[in-house]
Amino acid sequence: MSERRAIVIGAGLGGLAAAAALRRRGWAVHMYEKGPWPGPAGSGLAMMPNALRALDAFGVGDTVRGLAAIQGDGGLRRADGRYLARTSAAAVQARFGDPMVVLERARLAAILRDAAADVPLHSGAPAVVVDAGDAERAAVVRTSEGDEDAELIVAADGVHSAARAELFPEHPGLRQTGWTAWRFIVAASAAVQTGETWGGAGVVGLVPLADDRTYFYAAAVAPVGQRAADDERAELLRRFGDWHAPIRQLIESSVPDAVLRGDIAELAAPLPALHRGRVALLGDAAHPMAPFLGQGACQAIEDAVVLAHALDGPDGLVGYTAARRGRTADVVRRSHRMGALALLRSPVARTLRDTFLRTVGSLSSDTAIRELIPVVDWRPPMADGAVVSGVQPDPR
Ligand SMILES: Cc1cc2nc3c(=O)[nH]c(=O)nc-3n(C[C@H](O)[C@H](O)[C@H](O)COP(=O)(O)OP(=O)(O)OC[C@H]3O[C@@H](n4cnc5c(N)ncnc54)[C@H](O)[C@@H]3O)c2cc1C
Repeated sequence: MSERRAIVIGAGLGGLAAAAALRRRGWAVHMYEKGPWPGPAGSGLAMMPNALRALDAFGVGDTVRGLAAIQGDGGLRRADGRYLARTSAAAVQARFGDPMVVLERARLAAILRDAAADVPLHSGAPAVVVDAGDAERAAVVRTSEGDEDAELIVAADGVHSAARAELFPEHPGLRQTGWTAWRFIVAASAAVQTGETWGGAGVVGLVPLADDRTYFYAAAVAPVGQRAADDERAELLRRFGDWHAPIRQLIESSVPDAVLRGDIAELAAPLPALHRGRVALLGDAAHPMAPFLGQGACQAIEDAVVLAHALDGPDGLVGYTAARRGRTADVVRRSHRMGALALLRSPVARTLRDTFLRTVGSLSSDTAIRELIPVVDWRPPMADGAVVSGVQPDPR
């Protein structure tokens, strides 16, 4: 019997995970990436226990566990450095069976690529869906080399997905949140404890990496498209330079050109389905989300595992949509809620929030974990079992 043939559009983390998961189940896969590959380096990425379990499904979970930095004890702080809530690494490990880990985005991309090293990756090669296909007809993508047909197309072409617009022309598309985010990695010039700081100017996150470097991220409310007249490092110093140590020191150690900035967009409404015809949408193409729970790539990797599993089941892509639409819409909602809480504009509301967090946070170091349970307590579908659509029951 000849191999089933799939084309993956986009070699971001979602597309790479899809190629690895499909290859593992015997698909012949081709990938098309419009940009250069590998893409630009320069930011970190949290992988939560749900993503580590998904990575196990195609054999790279332990590689990631081995190379990433386990996030130790830390917490949520105010701009003056006082803790609002402490988080305990032991409590995360005990509750979820895995820690939260962080590694460089480019490193994860390389691991995923290695997991499907025999998949041809055409870089500098944009691809568009020209026919979604149906039960009788193959789907077709157009590339600079001509038209290619396939039994399956995985559109993992990111937040500005052309495939999504092509498949769901009636959908209202993206909505800007009014939030913007910065990221960079620096050699750690000071001792850094994992954690997030919430203040009037926005949010800062500090994340030690495995090699004595630190991943720094920040978010704030800002007009869409606004960029610093001088440079984004100077902008970060203006906004966060008087926050607790070592925030200023880390910003000052960064290279201005290496500070990445991007506005955060979400879909105006969840898509009616995550597939049409023989095309599956995956990752940010299907459900772009605010980054405040660190789940965008985790969900893309979950998508990849469930997609490969569903295609071996009786319902195919219908099963994929059934398993993923509700789950991802829920994570999108929760991520937005967390952003709205972190970036409250009213000082009165911020004081009430901080008082509440201090009270709750003082109860126990794993109180913060409760918020994560519905998101992180996910298990991949078993080889011979049903597709799992959401969380497992909380055993407590
Ligand atoms: C500030 C910030 C922090 C974040 N932190 C985390 C975190 O800690 N943990 C986490 O899990 N997630 C995090 N995320 C989310 C995560 O980055 C995304 O969800 C994830 O990268 C999505 O992967 P993707 O493959 O779906 O899309 P992308 O990474 O955007 O990849 C899409 C790819 O498709 C290519 N492409 C587009 N159009 C075409 C075309 N026509 N033909 C061929 N190729 C095409 C693009 O060039 C790109 O390479 C964060 C996001 C932000 C903004």
